[in-house]
Amino acid sequence: MRRKIVAGNWKMNLMPEEANELFSNLNESKTWPSDVEMMIFPPAIYLQGFASKKNENLILGSQNFFQKEKGAYTGEISISQIKATGATAVLVGHSERRAYFGEHESFLKEKVDAAIEHQLHVVFCCGEPLEVRKSGDEKDFVKKQLEESLFHLEEDQIIKTTIAYEPVWAIGTGLTANEEEAEDMHAAIRSWLIERYSLETANEISILYGGSCNAENAKGLFACPNVDGGLIGGASLKKDDFHTIANSF
Ligand code: PEP
Repeated sequence: MRRKIVAGNWKMNLMPEEANELFSNLNESKTWPSDVEMMIFPPAIYLQGFASKKNENLILGSQNFFQKEKGAYTGEISISQIKATGATAVLVGHSERRAYFGEHESFLKEKVDAAIEHQLHVVFCCGEPLEVRKSGDEKDFVKKQLEESLFHLEEDQIIKTTIAYEPVWAIGTGLTANEEEAEDMHAAIRSWLIERYSLETANEISILYGGSCNAENAKGLFACPNVDGGLIGGASLKKDDFHTIANSF
């Protein structure tokens, strides 16, 4: 079943005291709707501490990991180490990792495989840059991203994933895809899932919108038939806004 999900990507923000305060607020929330899954992706250094305190409804994920099992990869954290913290989800393919750290399609495919092998829930991000949107080729672009890094999975594996459509031009810019643009791409992604897998499988997978989604525009976006929630960056750092977004279905 497609689940409603509101996920917060904290990126490289919040010092320990601030992070603990936000985590406690979310963890003890009485106003989070029971039919909406809460996922948070804090900086990795906070994962273990949060996992030991979190309630069973809060899903904790890592923004990153390296797909090799262990070895001489200075500065990296393996998927097994992430799993040992108690995190159960991972982000793969975020546009900031693609842009600043050169994570390309075949590298992302390896990350997807490593996460699936370790039974971690993958939130796979895709989305086109502005010049592609301007040229009108955004569907081909996003389809290729999915085909090259995600659609090699078998049916019983892909249902353990969530897809986040995040137009790059909307991330952290204050620009948002309007409801028609978001629904158009989400419906296309759903149709590719039907083509590649089946209608049943496509109806198991949540597709989130990300890109300057906030307390004001979430209601309109979440009302789109193929939008199952949001991956939220900036607005997930403000507890009241994040709660408002979760209450926007
Ligand atoms: C993101 O980081 O995935 C994101 C969508 O960021 P923002 O909401 O700040 O645009």
